[in-house]
Formats: sequence, structure tokens, C-alpha cells
Amino acid sequence: MKFTPAKPPSTGETLDTLTARLRERGEPAFRAKQILDWVYKKRARTWDEMTNLPKALRVWLADTFELMPMVLVHGKQSLDVTDKLLLELGDRSLIETVIIRAPQDGVGLEHSRKTICISTQVGCAMGCKFCASGLLGLKRDLNAGEIVAQLLQVCYREDEHDPRAHTGLASFDNIVVMGMGEPLANYNAIIRALTIVNAEWGLGFGARRITLSTSGLVPKILKLADEPLGLRLAISLHGATDEVREQIMPVNKAYPLAQLLPAIKAFSAKHGRMVTLEFILIEDVNDSFEQAEKLRDIAVDLHAHVNLIPYNTVEGLPWKRPSVSRQEAFADILRRARVSVTLRREKGHDIEAACGQLRLKTEQARELSAS
Ligand code: SAH
Ligand code: SF4
Repeated sequence: MKFTPAKPPSTGETLDTLTARLRERGEPAFRAKQILDWVYKKRARTWDEMTNLPKALRVWLADTFELMPMVLVHGKQSLDVTDKLLLELGDRSLIETVIIRAPQDGVGLEHSRKTICISTQVGCAMGCKFCASGLLGLKRDLNAGEIVAQLLQVCYREDEHDPRAHTGLASFDNIVVMGMGEPLANYNAIIRALTIVNAEWGLGFGARRITLSTSGLVPKILKLADEPLGLRLAISLHGATDEVREQIMPVNKAYPLAQLLPAIKAFSAKHGRMVTLEFILIEDVNDSFEQAEKLRDIAVDLHAHVNLIPYNTVEGLPWKRPSVSRQEAFADILRRARVSVTLRREKGHDIEAACGQLRLKTEQARELSAS
């Protein structure tokens, strides 16, 4: 289902497209830079704040663009290790953006490093059996402006206590494209959005601090390897053999490991940086020592980092995470081969891994209140 907003979001414009629109109106080229400066550096919330623009231009802008294509419908006042922002789009669709804080000794939470998890679609069509985002299927793709706007929403929230806001920098440290949706199934929009996020006239955020996670769309991984942006890549592997992976990830039928693994290799060869393999540990599904050994061999061959994620229970789904001792024993098999492994245990990271759940609950509540 495609959504065509009445007015395109300002956050989907590049310096070139905005300059072209303004030129059609007979405006000087420098206006585009001024406008983008208000949007991304000064974080203007209304067109009227843009006081160095002529009034007539501000009126035209308000008639032509949606400055911000979403509203915050839910977000706690207090700061927590993870804060979820539930955002409503122009067609009432809901998406989630998550702020994950890394607490440090002697430093208040408000000054901790922040990783932002953004969504790329409303729902997801990939149908992974363990995932809350996939449960309702795909409703629609997000447009580039809606992807970028999530990060501005985070800035609006964080600017109050983040000194970087005064210099126009983004008030967070890392971006992970790990929220709702399969980013590579919405390829053009995610590339355009991250180009805007990265550009000096946009959020000016370094591509090396952006990690895109995919369930493994092979042709798109190869295409991404040729993009000049230089993003980091994470692959949702979750099974070290076709047999196990296929059970939980339908995408493996289209792109089995024999295609996926060489594509990952090609990507890291082009980028010269380690790819991350994400592996959710689900009891009795993929947590056998045999799987650990196979995963170890894959990681060694690809020279990849492995991120083990204890499964986060999803309401209505039967699975659970293995015991802590099982998780550790699984990780040890990799560590013994000197594979770089992280095993996430902190509460906050569970939420990162389970983007999609807040939206699911809200959709269910909406249905209940409508019936
Ligand atoms: N569609 C992309 C990015 C979004 S999913 C992808 O699949 O990579 C982000 C990560 O969260 C993926 O690794 C996904 O497998 C994981 N995930 C989904 N549901 C989860 C759950 N219930 N517990 C733990 N991780 C989960
Ligand atoms: Fe989609 Fe990723 Fe969830 Fe799979 S894990 S259903 S690809 S969001």
C-alpha cells in the first residue's frame, strides 16, 4: 500500500532537490542552505521561526512542505536506559524509534552515549517467525522523509540536556537501522534518508557510526557494497545451517547460505571493515553446540564479529531464551576460536532487539477500542 502525503516532508529533500524547487520559484540558490540549516542545525519546529527568510517564502514553504511528517504520541518524561518513542505518521500508521543509553560510571544518564534505533517500514513482509514486527505483515514502506524525521524527533527530545545541540550536531552517538521493517526491501528510501543524515547540509552524521541490519537480501547487499556512503553492515543470521535458518526465516529459501555468505564476504572485501553477524539464541531452536560450531566456522571464514542476543519473548509466540549457562557455553565455543563475540544481557538491549512490540501492542489496543 503506498501512502502519498498531501505535502511532501521537508526531511525528504536533498540540497539539490530543494534548490531546484526554489529556483522554479525564482529564489536565489542560497535559500536552500538556509532552510536546511533551520531544519537540521537549529531544529526549527515551525516555518515562522525561520526569521531570515522573507515572509512570502515562509508562507510558500508552509503550503508546499510538511516540516515534520510525524507526531510523538508516546514517550516518557523521565530518562531510562531505553526510551521508546511511538510516532504517528500522516496516515495514522505507527512506528517506533528507540533511544538506547549506555550508562557509564560517574556520569548521569542524560550524558551517556546514545544509540538510536530507527524503523524503515510500517510492519515487515519478511515473516521471520520470532519477530513482533513481522506479525502484522507489511503495511507500507516509509518514505525517506519519514526515516530522517525519526532522528529529528530524537534531537527534539535530547537537545534539552545534550550540549551538542548548541553546535548544531546531532544529539546522539550511533544509529542502528534495526527497528521495524527490512531496510533493504525499501532500498531507495533508506539510501536517500541516510544520505541526508550524513550530508554536511543535513544532520552531518558520520556514516561509520551508522549500522544497517538486514535479514539477508543478497542482491541488495551487493548493491549496498557499491554505495559510496560507507555504512556498517549487520546480518540477521539466526541459523548456522540452511535447515535451522529456513525454519525461522523464510528469506533463507530465496537466498540460502550458499548465496548469503559470499555476498557478506564481497561486502567486507569492498569496505575493509568487519561485518556483524546477529544470532538470536532461542531455546531448542538454534542453541545447540553443533550450531555454535557451525557459526564459529562461518565467523572465522568471514572474519566477522558475532553478536549473540538472548531471545526476547514476544507475546503470542512460543519461544524463549536459553538459560544463562547455555548462552555462555554457546559463546565459549566461539571465543575459544578467538572469534570476536558479544553476548548482550542488559535489559535495555532486549528492547533494542525487539523493536516492533510497542507498536504491536498499540495497534491491538486500537483494534480493541474500535470493536
Ligand atoms: N529487518 C532487519 C532489521 C530489523 S530487525 C533484520 O531483520 O535484520 C533487528 C534485529 O532484531 C534483527 O536481528 C532481528 O532478528 C532481531 N529480533 C527480532 N525479534 C527479536 C526478538 N523477539 N528477540 C531478539 N531479537 C529479535
Ligand atoms: Fe522483518 Fe527483521 Fe523482523 Fe525479520 S527480523 S520480520 S526481517 S523486522
